[in-house]
Amino acid sequence: MTKKIAIIGGGFSGLSAATYLAKEGFDVTIFEKNSTIGGRNRKFTEDGFTFEMGPSWYWMPEVFDNYFKDFKKERKDYYGLTKLNPSFSIIYKDQEKLDIPSEEEDLIALFEEIEIGAGQRLKDFMEDAKYKYDSSMNNLILKPGKSIFEFFEWEVIKGVFKLNLFSNFKNFVRKYFKDERLTNLMDFPVLFLGSAPENTPALYSLMNYAGLMLGTWYPENGMYSIIESMEKVAVEHGVKIHTNQEISQILISNDEVSGLVSNNENIEFDAVIASGDYKHMETLLPSKLRNYTDKYWSTRTLAPSSLIFFLGINKKIPGIEHHTLFFDESLEKHTEQIYVDPKWPEKPLFYVCAPSKTDLKLAPDNCENIFVLIPIAAGIEDNNSIREYYYSLIIERLEKQLNMSIKEHVIYKKSYCINDFKEDYHSYKGNAYGLANTLKQTAILKPKLNNKKIKNLVYAGQLTVPGPGMPPAIISGKLAANEIIKLFKK
Ligand SMILES: Cc1cc2nc3c(=O)[nH]c(=O)nc-3n(C[C@H](O)[C@H](O)[C@H](O)COP(=O)(O)OP(=O)(O)OC[C@H]3O[C@@H](n4cnc5c(N)ncnc54)[C@H](O)[C@@H]3O)c2cc1C
Repeated sequence: MTKKIAIIGGGFSGLSAATYLAKEGFDVTIFEKNSTIGGRNRKFTEDGFTFEMGPSWYWMPEVFDNYFKDFKKERKDYYGLTKLNPSFSIIYKDQEKLDIPSEEEDLIALFEEIEIGAGQRLKDFMEDAKYKYDSSMNNLILKPGKSIFEFFEWEVIKGVFKLNLFSNFKNFVRKYFKDERLTNLMDFPVLFLGSAPENTPALYSLMNYAGLMLGTWYPENGMYSIIESMEKVAVEHGVKIHTNQEISQILISNDEVSGLVSNNENIEFDAVIASGDYKHMETLLPSKLRNYTDKYWSTRTLAPSSLIFFLGINKKIPGIEHHTLFFDESLEKHTEQIYVDPKWPEKPLFYVCAPSKTDLKLAPDNCENIFVLIPIAAGIEDNNSIREYYYSLIIERLEKQLNMSIKEHVIYKKSYCINDFKEDYHSYKGNAYGLANTLKQTAILKPKLNNKKIKNLVYAGQLTVPGPGMPPAIISGKLAANEIIKLFKK
């Protein structure tokens, strides 16, 4: 008889897991607590502005392409991609702006202009980063992270020392570049994606390769079109999707999952993939059947949370690009206030996304749609007066750096922070991107895909392997689906 599988959560990992299972003939149902699927990648429209609520950087395009290919589809039949040029911009102190070109030779020229010899050193850095990227994509990222033996293949052992797993990212970058603008530029992807450069293995320079060499892309009609496309493929394969369905319990009988409780109704299933935030997923089980204790979670290093402002502006804002990073204060100090001494940053760095620069549909005529994000420590206090304090601070900095009035032109404003992450996603301490990419939380040291006591319960999503970000979440769904496929096709 066809096995019935339930997926808790309709984000990237849940959609991915569901579709891989449906392709193998399983009867799959997704239960999503929110009114729309997408998880951290959702959108809303107000007063003619369409705001995307989470991801804005489309990196590693081949992971998305491969996903569609796995279902004998072509990504381009669902949405087109525009390569952004500049890929992004950085604004430093005193209005100094650096546009990061999308093409390699222009980037090399820019590095050389800033620091003599840095052009060649960028080539060397990227050669090494490409090796790490290719090696991770081919050998590491697709492993379920169950045991160290997975990495005992010759190709992996041969390369493991070249991967710089045990040296730190911060020192590694500074071997190549001295100018603070360049070191900040190289530190940014690891910081925003979830850990302090000094605690991140130098392996993660692969993110610089992904971000600077493989391009920053914008999907036609925005990030949510990825979710809509994945939904189409899922539904075509027979996946059933139920929104507004909060799962309150995973039912256990004879040490196996027997079903779920959704909106007070017991529903039988042969297996479950729990793709919501890992810690919350485990609270749906009796404590003796959980993989990890509260103490375990309290000792993890979380990736940052964020304070976000969605702003509709009734004029265009020259001087910012689709992606602009405001690095006009100390990166080191801000990082310290996320990871070492978690508190609200005194002089925060922030990121501004203005998708209406690329996609005019996202704002009314002659208006700008912007999303301002300040990375902050997960778990700190969040209330309205704190949010308002940072709103004033950011608007003042924007006005000063861009030399124009902004505050009086804001015609729509909404904030989003720790309390919203908890409420919308049951996010532990209100984290935005799961666990930090530290050495102690890499590969087999991440929370496990499989429940150790219940064979028909598997976890997926950004808190397990391979980690945070849209591409890893898609891969995580595939890995989780493979565990269920193996279980029933033995
Ligand atoms: C502000 C922000 C910016 C980001 N920027 C980028 C970026 O630029 N590029 C990038 O690649 N990545 C980015 N990310 C990370 C990326 O969005 C995530 O890693 C990815 O979306 C995680 O997918 P997921 O499936 O693991 O989890 P989620 O998206 O959180 O999905 C889990 C789902 O489970 C649901 N759920 C939870 N509990 C229950 C329950 N009891 N019953 C039913 N449903 C439940 C939740 O509602 C949610 O929809 C960003 C994230 C945020 C928050």
